[in-house]
Amino acid sequence: MDEQLGMSHCEPCEACRFEAWQHVVDGRLRWEESQYCPAYGVQACGGGWGPAPDWVRERIVAREGTVRLPVGAPDGVPIALLRRVYGLTIGEVVAARATGWEATPVEARLLAGPAAAAPSGPADE
Ligand SMILES: [Zn+2]
Repeated sequence: MDEQLGMSHCEPCEACRFEAWQHVVDGRLRWEESQYCPAYGVQACGGGWGPAPDWVRERIVAREGTVRLPVGAPDGVPIALLRRVYGLTIGEVVAARATGWEATPVEARLLAGPAAAAPSGPADE
């Protein structure tokens, strides 16, 4: 794991501010987080490749919500891609096929594949 929790006061206090976000760099999922505490003058940040740790992802989901994507053929996210991005077990893949996959908007863009990311058509992102 590549979490970096550089807090120098042990428990987050009321003044603590957290930000977390995801983006796609060169076709790979990346997450970033920063923590700032004006009361203690502490700033820390971290990030890593791949799916965000749960506590980071929870913050992103709370702010941006999730998109439920179908999984598997013919129109869903390719299972091989889903497994590569998230490192899912077989059991998790089976569950995802049955119920769909809850992706954050940034993850959904990655999972939608190169076709969706291509700079053609009326895309405005
Ligand atoms: Zn604090």
